[in-house]
Amino acid sequence: MYEVIVIGAGYGGLAIAALLARRGHRVLVCEQNKVLGGRARSDEHDGFILDWGLHVNRFGDAGPAAEVLRRLGERIEWAGEGRAERSLVQFNGRLYPRPDSVGGYLTTPMLSWPDRLRLMAVLLRALRARPEDWYAVTWAHFVRRTTHSPAVLKLCRLFNYAIYAPDIEVASAGEVIYFVQHALKAPAVTAQPVGGTGQIIRKLEEVIREGDEVRLGCKVDRILLDEGCVAGVLADGEEITAQAVVFTPPLQRLFRLVPDEALPTEFWEYAANLEPTACIAYDFGLREPVPGSSGSVISLDGAFLMGSFPSNCDPSLAPEGMQLASFLNAVPARDATKKPVMDAETMRLRRWIAETFPGFFDRVLWERRLVIPLVDGVHLRVGQAYPDRHPIASPHIHGLFFVGDTVAAPACSADIAFNAALEAEGLIEEYLLQW
Ligand SMILES: Cc1cc2nc3c(=O)[nH]c(=O)nc-3n(C[C@H](O)[C@H](O)[C@H](O)COP(=O)(O)OP(=O)(O)OC[C@H]3O[C@@H](n4cnc5c(N)ncnc54)[C@H](O)[C@@H]3O)c2cc1C
Repeated sequence: MYEVIVIGAGYGGLAIAALLARRGHRVLVCEQNKVLGGRARSDEHDGFILDWGLHVNRFGDAGPAAEVLRRLGERIEWAGEGRAERSLVQFNGRLYPRPDSVGGYLTTPMLSWPDRLRLMAVLLRALRARPEDWYAVTWAHFVRRTTHSPAVLKLCRLFNYAIYAPDIEVASAGEVIYFVQHALKAPAVTAQPVGGTGQIIRKLEEVIREGDEVRLGCKVDRILLDEGCVAGVLADGEEITAQAVVFTPPLQRLFRLVPDEALPTEFWEYAANLEPTACIAYDFGLREPVPGSSGSVISLDGAFLMGSFPSNCDPSLAPEGMQLASFLNAVPARDATKKPVMDAETMRLRRWIAETFPGFFDRVLWERRLVIPLVDGVHLRVGQAYPDRHPIASPHIHGLFFVGDTVAAPACSADIAFNAALEAEGLIEEYLLQW
């Protein structure tokens, strides 16, 4: 019998499995795919190292991924730390350096002097606010309590990019406030692990494999229950027993793994209605660097478009003399299956790339386009913010825990999964002690 079975080997599953393994627990990880990493997996293509779409870690060494590794006695090696001067923002058709500090916002040429002062007032209020007081209202509402300036509202969309919640009119203000407060204390707003997401995946895997087991191509079909308690899982026809089970895919994927009657109707309604984010992700291998290309570029002029040249910060991602470019167009999840809409959004992204970086497409060796209907498990809009998400320990099934980017842990995107793993470690240990 295992002490803990972890379903899924994405960031969340690998993080909780490694934390428990390091504490001496007997852990089994079941991953349905043949590769580790889930949505943060990486591939190699013609000597280029590609993450599954543009991936960075917020707050670098002060972020939760680094904290997980620190608890394991490991360290993430960063490539992009402190390189925000390489980031650009498109505002009213022109490119500007992206501000990354209060001083940067106070001097940004994107705004007039009076608007810079208005923006300062918004940021100072955000710094003094308690996130928990603002999760239930929109970021636009929070900004308008200080100013109705269209230019300030437009610039404030930068924070929507930061938490990947495209629309200022629906994004939760508490989530933005949490981000702003942590970003200002961090050594970097975002950072790239050397070698991409693969570095983090490999380090977590090594810790687990020191004493525990990871089964690839192992799909869990059922979570086994015994009188309201977890008893193990059914995977590939085999019943595997365990004291606790950690489910790490997005909660939307729990259907059919647990009998309907084991959880209340409200839970199933909640899981069915969870809205994820979606995108068109485009990666390009370029035979030579594009002139004027930066670390990253964001458009505030309309659609939510962003791009990055990860090999500018980390040359190990591309063969010598070549360049890796990664672009993204955030689309509503409900549109991701509509081919005509996705074709139009693809054209929009390609036009933007061509206009922003003349000569870009003359340098393309290969390209990979992905329409991804589930980027972040939860879109951080009002109603899906931190306090509204499902708790880590199931209140209905003893021994069932949820870790991953849809649960009630703070922050956004993958950081929810890492923070959930950090919190789950103590909760699961406590449960095992009582068992
Ligand atoms: C294009 C793109 C760009 C992104 N950029 C960023 C970024 O820059 N920064 C950031 O913080 N986040 C980013 N994200 C989000 C980030 O990748 C996710 O938040 C994170 O990887 C989620 O990890 P997870 O462990 O919660 O879930 P997942 O990675 O989805 O892991 C769940 C795992 O469970 C497995 N599984 C599912 N069902 C079963 C089953 N029945 N049996 C066995 N295994 C099962 C799945 O195969 C999967 O491997 C991005 C995502 C995408 C797609």
